[in-house]
Amino acid sequence: MNFCSQCGAGVALIIPEGDNRERHVCGDCSTIHYQNPRIITGTLPVHEDKVLLCKRAIEPRYGLWTLPAGFMENGETTEQGATRETWEEASANIENLTLYTLFNLPYINQVYFFYRANLSDLNFGPGTESLEVGLFSEDEIPWEELAFPVITRTLQLYFDDRNTGHFPVRSEDILRRR
Ligand code: ZN
Repeated sequence: MNFCSQCGAGVALIIPEGDNRERHVCGDCSTIHYQNPRIITGTLPVHEDKVLLCKRAIEPRYGLWTLPAGFMENGETTEQGATRETWEEASANIENLTLYTLFNLPYINQVYFFYRANLSDLNFGPGTESLEVGLFSEDEIPWEELAFPVITRTLQLYFDDRNTGHFPVRSEDILRRR
């Protein structure tokens, strides 16, 4: 950040009085611009023995496969955000959302939530951010063409847990770039 969003003056990175870390502080109006992690929320849509994946039509990771997910918006819950992203990216209707994985990625200041969900019907298709949407069984998953480590990890956990039929919430920290 270079300029104050309140008044347009330059900002400096300093530790405000009473704080313990550097913040962007406006040199003119003294507004402190806090920056905090961003939340990404998404789903693992399931139909019978298959899961739904989207091929990305946007950067980063154009052309690689992902679960539907995106930045949470103000005014919504993580579950609502996950449902919205699933609709936007895959035109898919889902139900029975259950929190499944939570990932902290402190090196890029992100937190991910994925919900397991059932597809309500098979009328899905690519939204504007997807090239293709499809259902994949475990042996059809394009493991080498997945977009992000959190996607790979969520799918690994899912297929492991499916062997026992028990899906506890899985919380993991990913501490560095793969
Ligand atoms: Zn200012």
